[in-house]
Amino acid sequence: MDYGFVDCHCHISAREFDEDLEDVIQRTREAGVTTLVAVTEDVSEFPRVLQLQERHPDLLAPCFGIHPLQAGGGPGDPGSRSVKPQDLDAALPLFYEHADRLVAVGEIGLDFTPWCAPTQQDRDDQLSVFVRQLDVAKQLDLPVNVHSRSAAAVTIETMRQQGTSRALLHNFAGKPSVALEAVKAGYFLSFPPAVCRSSQRDKLIRRIPLEHICLETDAPALGIDPSVRNEPCNIHLPCRHIAALKGLSAEHVRVVTSQNAYRLFPKADRCR
Ligand SMILES: [Zn+2]
Repeated sequence: MDYGFVDCHCHISAREFDEDLEDVIQRTREAGVTTLVAVTEDVSEFPRVLQLQERHPDLLAPCFGIHPLQAGGGPGDPGSRSVKPQDLDAALPLFYEHADRLVAVGEIGLDFTPWCAPTQQDRDDQLSVFVRQLDVAKQLDLPVNVHSRSAAAVTIETMRQQGTSRALLHNFAGKPSVALEAVKAGYFLSFPPAVCRSSQRDKLIRRIPLEHICLETDAPALGIDPSVRNEPCNIHLPCRHIAALKGLSAEHVRVVTSQNAYRLFPKADRCR
């Protein structure tokens, strides 16, 4: 069985793709991507990602999630603020209403970057929103698509405590020892084109068994050049990088990572 690429974490409903979305989708298909796992960051994106799935049912695999960072920080911080429990209010009923169409809950997680979560209250709020969504995923029997910036160990520990058995740690940047804890828990780790920018994560990637690695783009973010919009058609870049690091062919890495992806997201397999 030949496998196309699975982009396990992509923001295809982001505003950055509004102008030329159909061209982006066309390039995605031409690049050999057979499944696009589409994560969301806030409730306003939920209807958009479902509409996109209606237009491209063979490609789009939707996830609903409330990101640990939300737009609109306070004065002096116009960028991101930590999520608050009330950011979940409008989202919760929609998880249940559309459960049959979702392949995972995400993007959820923790971001303890100091300027994004400066206070203990911020971190507590993130934790409570994360745990609540892990609980929803458990109730709906769905895997989770997880962000863990500056919080790799606590993210993994929280999921283990909550009994989460199926998780993707996207753009993982923790220590190799922490990555191996995730592997032991049965979790998967995915890497975007940005890993090709430097050798920073080469050692980490070499240590993780290929059977626990997935590919992602995190488009429109995390491309090779941070000033250029990333697209799902760039998925071959982390594939080639991982293949080179592990001394394997890119075809082998594509096939194994796609098998991993469909094992983790079984409901996405219908897209093939
Ligand atoms: Zn993301």
